[in-house]
Amino acid sequence: MLHKTISLLGSTGSIGTQALAVVREHGFRIAALAAHSNIHLLENQAREYCPDLVCIYNKELYTQLKDALKDTSVRVTSGMEGLLEAATWPTADMVLNAVVGMVGLQPTLAAIQAGKSLALANKETLVTGGQLVIEAAQRHHVAILPVDSEHSAIFQCLQGNRPEQVKKLILTASGGPFFGKKREDLQKVTVADALNHPNWNMGAKITIDSATLMNKGLEMIEAAWLFHKTIDDIEVLVHRESVIHSAVEYVDHSVIAQLGVPDMKIPIQYALTYPERYPCPVQSLNLLDYGQLTFAAPDPETFVCLKACREAMHRGGLYPTLVNGANEQAVDLFLHQKISFLEIGDLVYGALHLSVPEGDFSITDVLDADRRARAYVLEQVC
Ligand code: NDP
Ligand code: MG
Repeated sequence: MLHKTISLLGSTGSIGTQALAVVREHGFRIAALAAHSNIHLLENQAREYCPDLVCIYNKELYTQLKDALKDTSVRVTSGMEGLLEAATWPTADMVLNAVVGMVGLQPTLAAIQAGKSLALANKETLVTGGQLVIEAAQRHHVAILPVDSEHSAIFQCLQGNRPEQVKKLILTASGGPFFGKKREDLQKVTVADALNHPNWNMGAKITIDSATLMNKGLEMIEAAWLFHKTIDDIEVLVHRESVIHSAVEYVDHSVIAQLGVPDMKIPIQYALTYPERYPCPVQSLNLLDYGQLTFAAPDPETFVCLKACREAMHRGGLYPTLVNGANEQAVDLFLHQKISFLEIGDLVYGALHLSVPEGDFSITDVLDADRRARAYVLEQVC
């Protein structure tokens, strides 16, 4: 039995609730829980997992949650201060960051500075502040354990091998609900169409990102930072069945892949228990259920977000922050039916035309670039 005390940011979401299933299965302790607005689930989670601290980011709900938990000894906090307190809470040895969006960047940095090992689902953290996060992790000797299934797969394929012997990373993509479609086929896509992912059941933002292939673009950037590769060392391969979660090609052209049923509990658990492996409450993979596995090239002309992310990494600096910020704003507008599906990609690509300061940058510059990208999207639309 592994004893671990975890602060879980984003506990009410898709990753958060699956992580709590893993926590329950293995009897880990929860030090802190954080969510944005879902106070009812957060209250129930606080009663079940007895953390020292809960944070509700939305300050308007603070009093309601505090009141609901007044018969317990749980400390209730809110806002960014509360999220940072949850990320650095002294009794936690690990932080699982599963919030959605670049709001996860500051808690990630705070957790690293506090010396916590970091299980990272929040890919926007590495996309927007990759250089700051990786440098901080090296400075504080903190391990970053990937939760994203592709990055967990690559991490697993790297075990026992030397990173300098890696030739390229092969990032698999389901292709989302619109695989094979062209721009003209996508003009009337509704929110419900885009939320209908073929293989994975995830939060709304990442499901839209999967439909536009922005998710794969963000994941290329995430992989480049996590595994110290250039964006051109990363190949994206559409694999509709989501059985091969990603692969690594070595200099001798040997390719090692990681396979499993598409269930996030496997990578979540591996990040929480690494380097140990434990039984996981998911189905065993039976390849005969699939019969055959298929592969195809992505189409960056239709799914321009993929192209925008590659170009942002070629330019470097704050350009990945720009495309991420534009995407977060555009996805929000699409979910509220204010823009069309195709406009998401156009706005993300358009954000590459914004200018950003060159050279070294700080967290303030990152937050600034993010604000500018969001403002650009709003200006284009309103
Ligand atoms: P969800 O939308 O399902 O959940 C997001 C969680 O973050 C919720 O608990 C939400 O709270 C919380 N949250 C949002 N903003 C804040 C904030 N400012 N402060 C505190 N909590 C906040 O997202 P997912 O679980 O799908 O995704 C989470 C992250 O993991 C994303 O970065 C995503 O890209 C990544 N990821 C997800 C995968 C998946 O299978 N879902 C797979 C791989 C990566 P509330 O419920 O109150 O809104
Ligand atoms: Mg993924």
